[in-house]
Amino acid sequence: MTAQLLEGKQIAQRMRTRLREVRDALGSQPVRLVSVEIGQNPAAAVYVRNQQRAAAEVGIDMEVQNLPLGTTEAQLVAVIGELNRRPEVAGILMQRPLPPGIDPRVVQSAIDSHKDVEGMHPANMGAILYREPLLPPCTAAAAQHLILQTGIDLRGTETVVVGHSEIVGKPIAVLLLHHLSTVTVCHIGTRRLIDHTRRADILVVAVGKAGLVHGDMVKPGACVIDVGINQAPNGRIVGDVEFASTVAVAGHLTPVPGGVGPVTVAMLMRNVLRAAGAVV
Ligand code: NAP
Repeated sequence: MTAQLLEGKQIAQRMRTRLREVRDALGSQPVRLVSVEIGQNPAAAVYVRNQQRAAAEVGIDMEVQNLPLGTTEAQLVAVIGELNRRPEVAGILMQRPLPPGIDPRVVQSAIDSHKDVEGMHPANMGAILYREPLLPPCTAAAAQHLILQTGIDLRGTETVVVGHSEIVGKPIAVLLLHHLSTVTVCHIGTRRLIDHTRRADILVVAVGKAGLVHGDMVKPGACVIDVGINQAPNGRIVGDVEFASTVAVAGHLTPVPGGVGPVTVAMLMRNVLRAAGAVV
């Protein structure tokens, strides 16, 4: 079998086209996304550029605030407080990684939950337990969207999520649980990962270790969503799933790059429009 690739680039392009129509329907209402970054991180620069491109295409004003290295947690929280009060600011985005000494949870909780377009405020994370919240975490929403694109009826399927981070693994597990898939979450304490991955109809890998999952670990025909982003020794970006061996076994597979990443950015734009009051 050769897996059908879930082309995130094209899916994200379709999403942006639709989001542009939604944005235009808001008329002259300002829709602004403010990205806050401390220092200049070359890794974050790529993400910021992609976000700026997507925002421009959708018709969202993106403002980038670069705070100096050495900004304290209290100063950052004060900046966020100001953004919370600015009425034209629909969404606030905190670029990572944060410098040592700044607690991401404090920062995320300081953002007004209605402007938390990353979906990482405790109120939005908590809302996931009830149903899909207005502002879900973007990567988890992207993974869900890609799986639903396949048309697979999730009810009764076995889903295995590898990785249990707050921003990716755990919310994906909960979102897929709402579809009545039977969800197993694997992590660093899991004894034999392969025993779990081999029975997954839906396999989501979000760890940050290149080649953690390879074709032998995948059930024939499975839908494999590779969230990982790693830099290979040759400088290329690769996922957590070994592509060549997995594409020969899986039914669907997301490429890296060009899979989950672009859809995550499109989900961010969707969240900004939702935060601005659009129904989308
Ligand atoms: P993270 O916070 O470092 O979490 C990694 C998770 O993997 C942790 O839950 C960790 O468990 C678990 N883990 C580590 N080694 C493992 C192993 N051998 N077997 C099973 N589980 C293991 O990372 P993250 O923020 O969730 O991101 C994960 C990956 O996705 C990274 O490569 C990141 O760059 C990428 N990412 C991509 C997008 C996108 O848009 N495509 C967005 C966000 C993140 P413990 O905590 O117990 O150690």
